[in-house]
Amino acid sequence: MSVWAVLVAAGRGERLGADRPKAFVRLGDLPLLAEPLRRLDDSEWVDAIVLVAPPEWEEPAILCAEEVGASKVSSCVAGGEERVESVRAGVAEVPGEAAVILVHDAARPVLPPDVVPRLLEALAEGYDGAVPALAVADTVKRVRDGSVVETLPRDELWTAQTPQAFVAPVLRAALEARDTVSQGLVTDCASLVEARGGRVKAVQGDERLLKVTTAADLERVSAWL
Ligand code: C5P
Repeated sequence: MSVWAVLVAAGRGERLGADRPKAFVRLGDLPLLAEPLRRLDDSEWVDAIVLVAPPEWEEPAILCAEEVGASKVSSCVAGGEERVESVRAGVAEVPGEAAVILVHDAARPVLPPDVVPRLLEALAEGYDGAVPALAVADTVKRVRDGSVVETLPRDELWTAQTPQAFVAPVLRAALEARDTVSQGLVTDCASLVEARGGRVKAVQGDERLLKVTTAADLERVSAWL
């Protein structure tokens, strides 16, 4: 069974306020991208990696892969305006014989080694997809124009992280069905699979899979390296 990882790093990361795309801000001595790339490359479960870089940053992305000695990188392509377009561009580079596709955000650099096997176990149980998730600790309310409309039952609420794992043909079909969900509302791949009736398992996530959005997140993440 071959497992391919698509590492999406094509976001602009405007909320970070840096002079370059988020994947290329410094985390320690290297670009942020180096950390998730090295961790995927080190994973015994991952056979090959497709890198998705911001347009015109493909070359620095490849240099970064060389710098960390990431030997599993098969190709590097430019991403699109929306995350889902970047995922599509990456998945298009994955060969037909791949059994499983993992999609991971470069913005979540600290990938603990036990997460990928947990996801693959769920696929072996027969699920179409699996996501790492954390139970919500706060009370979640739906708010419209500043007023609370509804309080949601917390015991059913989880936040989804990446990497997300899918049976390869299931993810490909979900990405091709452009009509299912309006593009701007697609914030993860699992939602596309769910929209088509796919079964997605929520496995235990990890606090360290925090997505770097602000400068404070970057500081938190660097403390975990
Ligand atoms: O923007 P956000 O932080 O939610 O992005 C999550 C991940 O998706 C990041 O790793 C980012 O680089 C990637 N992304 C992308 N192409 C986009 C937008 C986001 O590859 N157009």
